[in-house]
Amino acid sequence: MTDTARPTRIVVDLDTLTHNLRTLQAHAGVPVMAIVKANAYGHGLVPVGLHLQAQGVEQLGVAFLEEGIALRQAGVRVPILVMGGIFGPQAAQLIAEDLEITVSSIDKLRQVEAAAEALGRQATIHLKIDTGMERIGVHSYHAGPFIEAAVASRWCRVKGVYSHLACGDDPDSPMTAQQLERFLQACAHFERIGAPMPVRHLANSGGLLHFPETHLDMVRPGIALYGVLPDPASKPTVDLRPAMSLVSQVVYFKVVPAGHPVSYGATWAPGTDTRVVTIPIGYGDGFPVRCPRAVRC
Ligand SMILES: *Cc1c(COP(=O)(O)O)cnc(C)c1O
Repeated sequence: MTDTARPTRIVVDLDTLTHNLRTLQAHAGVPVMAIVKANAYGHGLVPVGLHLQAQGVEQLGVAFLEEGIALRQAGVRVPILVMGGIFGPQAAQLIAEDLEITVSSIDKLRQVEAAAEALGRQATIHLKIDTGMERIGVHSYHAGPFIEAAVASRWCRVKGVYSHLACGDDPDSPMTAQQLERFLQACAHFERIGAPMPVRHLANSGGLLHFPETHLDMVRPGIALYGVLPDPASKPTVDLRPAMSLVSQVVYFKVVPAGHPVSYGATWAPGTDTRVVTIPIGYGDGFPVRCPRAVRC
């Protein structure tokens, strides 16, 4: 850094990311799909994707097509699942970029099939089952015909079947056991029709940390990978370390007299004359205008 450069910056420690990956891999005992959506939770999509690939991660997961394309263009070759819902016209691009597709209805299956046939190239898909989130995915209790249509598809290879937990971060929630049961019931349909069982994955960070029975064939940690607990109240069950630090330098110093409030909202004032420093960061950087009491800024 030069003397004139702004000293406030985010520092991401890739070795810490490796530590968290190894810790979660050991805890799960099954392959990990590392979730790098939302710019790798602010840690930088491409550098994190390349680093995890170099560490031998089995698979990556993103939310949108654009994120998958950015990773491919940067030279990431590991399997990438796009977890979000897709719009029909995106199917051809997903296939062309060798991205794995979330298929969340029979209609979407038909759109992906049509695109695959037009390209003369099979699509790799994961079937999304809704077990209680009520977002994308076929209700578990209607999954039979959906699974049959996908298994019968010539142009789609069913690599995975998955669902998403609504309350995995709460160790006491009965919702997770219920979702697991619904998911396994849907998966049983593959056996019923004599089809090979695809990779079953259900656990997000919360499931991975608190509900071992949800680990199944693969886990999908996001926030935990970066060393942050999915819920501040959840008890750490494994040794995770934050990979991100916010670093700055004091730009100003003064003594604030007792009773004189500091900064926006005048929500806090020192009880005695107090040394106060200013750091060059503001709400334009995403720093909260009014800090939670616990942080006290
Ligand atoms: C974001 C996401 C994850 C990861 O969630 P975390 O709580 O950050 O671990 C896993 N699966 C799906 C489908 C997601 O959208």
